[in-house]
Amino acid sequence: MSKFSAYNFSNQRALIRVDFNVPLNEKFEITDDTRMRAAVPTIKKIIADGGKVILMSHLGRPKDGPSEKYSLKHLVPHLSELLGGTKVFFANDCIGEQAFLTENMLRKGEVLLLENLRFYNEEEKGDEKFAEKLSKLGDVWVNDAFGTAHRAHASTAIIAKFFPAEKRMFGLLMEGEVASAEKVLHQSEKPFTAIIGGAKVSDKILIIENLLEKATDIIIGGGMAYTFIKAKGGEIGNSLCETDRIDTALEILGKAAAKNVNIHLPVDSIVADKFAADAQTATTPSNHIPAGWMGLDIGKDAEAQFAEVIKNSKTILWNGPMGVFEMPAFQNGTKMIATAVAAATQQGSFSLVGGGDSVAAVNQFGFADKVSYVSTGGGAMLEYFEGKTLPGIAAVQS
Ligand code: AMP
Repeated sequence: MSKFSAYNFSNQRALIRVDFNVPLNEKFEITDDTRMRAAVPTIKKIIADGGKVILMSHLGRPKDGPSEKYSLKHLVPHLSELLGGTKVFFANDCIGEQAFLTENMLRKGEVLLLENLRFYNEEEKGDEKFAEKLSKLGDVWVNDAFGTAHRAHASTAIIAKFFPAEKRMFGLLMEGEVASAEKVLHQSEKPFTAIIGGAKVSDKILIIENLLEKATDIIIGGGMAYTFIKAKGGEIGNSLCETDRIDTALEILGKAAAKNVNIHLPVDSIVADKFAADAQTATTPSNHIPAGWMGLDIGKDAEAQFAEVIKNSKTILWNGPMGVFEMPAFQNGTKMIATAVAAATQQGSFSLVGGGDSVAAVNQFGFADKVSYVSTGGGAMLEYFEGKTLPGIAAVQS
């Protein structure tokens, strides 16, 4: 049993760092509550134990202190609803007197949400005094904010030093994230295929280099594939290309060959005469794209080849779309990859999808519950797979 599950929170004040950085519209309505829902099991376990819940989070990027736009008070009614009608108190200052007074009044099974941590610059600066003040609000510190685990902020990492080892732990969401990532990184059953897509090679170099040590196969799709195809001497027309990364692409291909890692590039592409939903389209070999045309999705042959590799994999990591999936004309490649990953998962493979746009894609196409795990942390997940130590994880484990 995990540390969190084994812990009895009865009469304890649990100070939980959650990631409630949800999008709000101009009427301050929540347009996607995924991050809030992800924290509910952790909160419910503490309530069920008879503990007191104190939640702290950031929302957006406020620059000049408190503002209506970035107030977490807008989340209170929905949070109460998600918790089955549990009373949720709100303190309009995360470290002020009101926070302490409200927290003092809190009874077993009640919840207090603190105002946006980033109304204080000290949060992002990782200020120790600020972290210490926050720490006074809890007997136990629970880190359940995977989305900010790559940041050494006051509430995500620095605060840890004010709690003894037995009083700091991951919540259920973080436990799930860490266990899934560790399974892929360190206990992957082979063949292990990493599917890497998206716009830019430069964003994904470190992750590819780290995966060269772990994966048997790496599928490269999306806009970034064309820098590799160009590096191999292909003609890519107006497709995305980072000319300053051509040498890097060649190096990666060389390293992969030396390590016997199979790199799979799309043999064909759906090409368009402009970057637009109503562009004229055609299919061409990815290394013979006519001048003036650009590859905006992988073609049918590439789909079939990639699907075959995925079908034979026991472990699958997917980060980044295969094409401009936001436009219907160029979403088929990403959809077919989602279908192949879902089918492999059904056959018993372990699949982890992470990173903003691939998560958006699996949600959009209705595949979120057909893969083994969907990560909630975009940047954090990328850094984890780049092999970096995440401060929010190290703070709990050290
Ligand atoms: P990233 O954030 O790097 O994962 O990139 C995601 C973005 O890459 C999405 O908005 C896609 O529309 C875009 N993208 C994927 N494939 C292509 C492509 N072939 N050309 C241009 N943009 C692409």
